[in-house]
Amino acid sequence: MSSSKPLVIVGSIVQDCVSYTDRFPKPGESVRGNDFKMGSGGKGANQGVQAAKLGALVTMIGRVGNDMFGDANISNLKKAGVNVEFIEKSETAPTSVACITVDNKGENSIVVTLGANLELNVERVKELEDVIAGAAMVMCQFEVNEETNYAAFEIAHSHNVTTFYNAAPGKPGMDKEILKFTDILCTNENETEFLIGRQLSSIEDFKEASRELLQYGPKTIVCTLGAKGVLVTDKESIEHVEVPRVKAIDTTGAGDSFCGSLTYLITKYPNKSIAELSRIASKIASMSVQKHGTQSSYPSIAEVRDNEI
Ligand code: ADP
Repeated sequence: MSSSKPLVIVGSIVQDCVSYTDRFPKPGESVRGNDFKMGSGGKGANQGVQAAKLGALVTMIGRVGNDMFGDANISNLKKAGVNVEFIEKSETAPTSVACITVDNKGENSIVVTLGANLELNVERVKELEDVIAGAAMVMCQFEVNEETNYAAFEIAHSHNVTTFYNAAPGKPGMDKEILKFTDILCTNENETEFLIGRQLSSIEDFKEASRELLQYGPKTIVCTLGAKGVLVTDKESIEHVEVPRVKAIDTTGAGDSFCGSLTYLITKYPNKSIAELSRIASKIASMSVQKHGTQSSYPSIAEVRDNEI
């Protein structure tokens, strides 16, 4: 039985501003850009858009500034079908902006100002206890305050609502406290290393790390290894799910496509194994890497069906 309850995302909304140049400016230098593009981003928003494009009911709890980027991002989410009722506008902080520069080798350098995302606080999450309690699943990433995520999961846990934590983007010495309220943890290679506190290289290393992470509380660890597949680990077993071989042209936001797809699939097919659903999510994410862009590269349910996924 699929759920008619929404997937609730407590997460980030970021305006991406991308300048394309021949080379990066040196400190104090100004260089001419060849092109400029804007897009809606933020891990929370990306994951919400991917889930909604597949047909999920998505409610986003977030914060933007009372500025043109705030309006643009809210309308983008609305257009994708995300419920934006609980996105507040701040009078004191700007909408988060990622200023991205891409050189002619495709390298990028990024300054992200998290702005209003950092004002999404514990008080707000507590105010929305009923929204969290009524969720099919609550998901968080690591682009809002840790205390906010923690409070959201604590509330979800107290109402027996499944929690999904995408510990992204990671940083050294990340707090593992939240894992005690996490049912499903999803990490990429870097994030697994940050959480475990050591470098990992072989698949065996990642399997060992996944087993270790189970000890902190999650029932399932989903570790994405780019084109090398996905490891799905629980107390009984570890499955290495293969990822389709495709010609990747832009992997930006692939992890968000995967997480948005997987959470949608888990709420739609609660009786299927997470490994089986990860196989489908990885096929969907592998479609996204074959197109440029982030949210615009995420397939809709119609495209997924056309690909016989
Ligand atoms: P992140 O984007 O967080 O670094 P990954 O690189 O592990 O995460 O990618 C997430 C998912 O996107 C993978 O599990 C896979 O499904 C898909 N993916 C990423 N890179 C590729 C690739 N080169 N070929 C096919 N699929 C890919």
